[in-house]
Order: sequence, then structure tokens, then C-alpha cells
Amino acid sequence: MSGIYIHIPFCREACHYCNFHFSTTHSHKQRVVGAILKEIELRKNYLPSNKIESIYFGGGTPSILFQSELDAIFNEIYKYFDVVEGAEITLEANPDDLNAARLKELKKSPINRLSIGVQSFRDEDLKWMNRAHSAKEAIESIKLAKQIGFNSLSIDLIYGTPNLSNEAWKENILQGIDLGVNHISSYCLTVETKTALSHLIEKGKIDPLSEEQASQQFDVLIETLELNAFEQYEISNFAKDGKYAVHNTNYWMNKPYLGIGPSAHSFNQTERSWNIANNILFAEAIEKNELPLETELLSMANKLNEYVMTSLRTKWGCSLDYIETNFGYKYAEQIEQQAYPHLLKKHLIKDGQTLFISREGKFFSDGIASDLFLL
Ligand code: SF4
Repeated sequence: MSGIYIHIPFCREACHYCNFHFSTTHSHKQRVVGAILKEIELRKNYLPSNKIESIYFGGGTPSILFQSELDAIFNEIYKYFDVVEGAEITLEANPDDLNAARLKELKKSPINRLSIGVQSFRDEDLKWMNRAHSAKEAIESIKLAKQIGFNSLSIDLIYGTPNLSNEAWKENILQGIDLGVNHISSYCLTVETKTALSHLIEKGKIDPLSEEQASQQFDVLIETLELNAFEQYEISNFAKDGKYAVHNTNYWMNKPYLGIGPSAHSFNQTERSWNIANNILFAEAIEKNELPLETELLSMANKLNEYVMTSLRTKWGCSLDYIETNFGYKYAEQIEQQAYPHLLKKHLIKDGQTLFISREGKFFSDGIASDLFLL
């Protein structure tokens, strides 16, 4: 089974911290959506199996699309792929797009899961981030989505922003829990190059972010969510009642996916490819029946490193038996040896033949994983 990711590269505002591919100019939206429809057909044979268990609209801001545009994309997907019954179909949506009328339209479509870009329930944070919505709109959108029958609701929350105290951060998390969402994705604010945030820090208008504060707030996040019956099933993802995100879990399980739209990445277990991150060049190429993508054939080391990186971030851990079966005994042994210093520091735990990142190691997970990589 596989997944389909559709990248919608348009936003209402440019959030100061964001380095995803998007444009706030919407004059080319219709043309890009047309190219997306055509790309679905052009790449209908990319995946090893055309059985689809998850579809994910990300961006950008997919909730910017008209319902007719979403319907056209669904028509194209259903024409060329076998979307299994009960497939998870997620739309990333921003609170300012989710009024009652819009939510009712979405509910009638195949979408059965919303991932709402809340980021914070505090207006001062939202203003600082240059988000297009208010805290009130965020709260209203979640209440309305529940009333209209979306049972699978995720929100995104950001921590580590300069004016966010640990107490205010805890209140933010509790607000999300009180609203009854069953999935929370939470990321530490990072300073990406070429973003407004990095320029503001360079010019001294904003203080550099504190790693100590970020680490404390990560602890607050884990503690608060665990106390409220959320399970940390991936470093940045928490679910209640086993409502894991199917689409993202499949990424971590190395299942294949097809990425459609400008900048979208694809993976078919043999190679990775990524589309050009430019709306006009993307549309021009697709209109000429050309695929504007680059491809990297994955070496054995690439595949093994990716397995280590993604599996260690999850609650299922990194299986040495899996490595032995799929890559060979000597690699399982090598990784176990490289894990030894982290086992001593108790940043890693070995249970049977599986390595897990400990609570203490979670904040350093990427560094730990890279220490286990094959060169
Ligand atoms: S809405 Fe999302 S994709 Fe768009 S600029 Fe903000 S963070 Fe980036």
C-alpha cells in the first residue's frame, strides 16, 4: 500500500519562520492546479502498487483551494488509483479558512481528517510569527470542525518562541487538549536560512533562540501530554486513543509515496525524487508533458541510514533483526557498536534486539541517529 501527497504552494501570509515552498501571489493558482491534475495522470505508474491507504494535502495552505479544485484533484486520483476503503484523507487547513460553510463542504468530500495549523492559542505569538489568523479563530475552527463531525483532528503547536514562558506554553497545550483534539504535532521553532526570522536575528531585532528554553519546553510538552493520555509515538507527534497519523507513520515505516505538485518529494523504495520548487517552471514543464524533477537512486547506505533515522524517532524503535535481515549481519553489529556510547549515557535503551531513544535522549534524537549512520 502507498500514499499520495499533494503540495498546494499558496499561503495568505508568509510566516516569519517558514522555509516551505509557497507563494503569497495567487494569480497562478488555477494554472498550478491544472498542472497538478495532469501530473497525477503522468505519474500514475510511479508507485509499486496503485492501492492507496492515505492521501495528504499539505503545503503551503491547502485550505485555500476552492471545493471545486479539491473535487477535481479527487476525481483524478480516483481515476488512476485504487483508494482503499477507510483510507486516511487529510487536509492541512488554517483556522481563518474554516468557517461553518467551508467545513460542511469539506465534510461532504472524501476528507476525513483535518490538520489545523494553530501554532499557538496566544495572539502575541501569532502576531510575532506573522500568522494570518487570531487565537479566537483557532479555537472557533476546532469547535466548529468537531460540531460538523470531524472526529480525527490534529493541531500543530510551536514552542521555543522568545516570549513564550514555560507556563504559557503549558496553557497552550492544555487549551488544545480541552478542545478535544486527538492528535498534536509539536515542533520547536528553528531558524532556517533565508527566512524573515533569520534576517531579524541577524539585524539584532530579535534575540537568538534559547536552546535551554527549547529543551525545557520539550519536557513540558511530553509531561503535559502524557498526563492527559496522549502517547508520544514519534518525537514530535502525540496521539490519543491510538489515532496515529497513517500517512506520516507510513513515511517513517519506509512505505512508498507519490508526491505531486511543486517541491513535492516522492519515494518508491528504490529512488527518491523531488519536483522543482517553482510554481511557474513546474506548470510550464507539466504542460509540455515533462516531469520537472530530480531523482536520486538510493544506495544501500542511504537506505540503512534512513531506516535508522526514521525508526529511532518512533515508539517502535530501530530493530537490529530488521537490519540483519534486510542489510546483513555485519551492519547490525556495526550499528550496535556505534550505539554503545549512547547506551552508556542512557540516551539509548536496548530492549531485546531493538534500540529505543530514552526520554533523556529525545531532545538529541537527530544527533544520536547520525552517530549510528554508515559512512
Ligand atoms: S501557512 Fe504554513 S506554509 Fe504558509 S507560510 Fe505559514 S507556516 Fe509556511
